[in-house]
Amino acid sequence: MPLSFLDTTRLKYLLQERGFGEARIIDLVAQCRPALPDNQPGVRWLGARTLQVNGLYRHGYLISPALHDVVLELLAQGTSALAARWHLPIGQTQGAPA
Ligand SMILES: Cc1cc2nc3c(=O)[nH]c(=O)nc-3n(C[C@H](O)[C@H](O)[C@H](O)COP(=O)(O)OP(=O)(O)OC[C@H]3O[C@@H](n4cnc5c(N)ncnc54)[C@H](O)[C@@H]3O)c2cc1C
Repeated sequence: MPLSFLDTTRLKYLLQERGFGEARIIDLVAQCRPALPDNQPGVRWLGARTLQVNGLYRHGYLISPALHDVVLELLAQGTSALAARWHLPIGQTQGAPA
């Protein structure tokens, strides 16, 4: 069962009463991990000169170098052998490079 913010705050307080007891909560944010419905990264052409890379979800730091290589291949050749090897579909909208 996921812990609520209150649960985790209470646990932190038990861990370090003074430190967390005096802490000020500046901001609470959710939905911070950019995800697409299938939780898979998405690369797509939005036009002849616009390439969108999104949906890195909870692995962004980890997979960014690999997606960077896919983007370099797409910009240089219009296709990506890496994307094909990783079964990463390259989406495209109207006006994208053929
Ligand atoms: C708490 C937490 C822990 C994580 N831990 C890990 C981890 O251990 N390992 C790992 O691999 N990944 C981790 N991740 C996931 C990783 O942070 C994300 O996958 C990664 O940051 C996604 O990169 P991104 O560039 O796609 O999106 P983001 O990092 O969200 O960058 C999007 C950028 O676009 C800007 N932006 C938004 N709208 C606009 C607009 N209209 N105009 C201009 N700019 C705009 C935003 O300000 C932001 O700077 C973690 C994420 C969270 C929240």
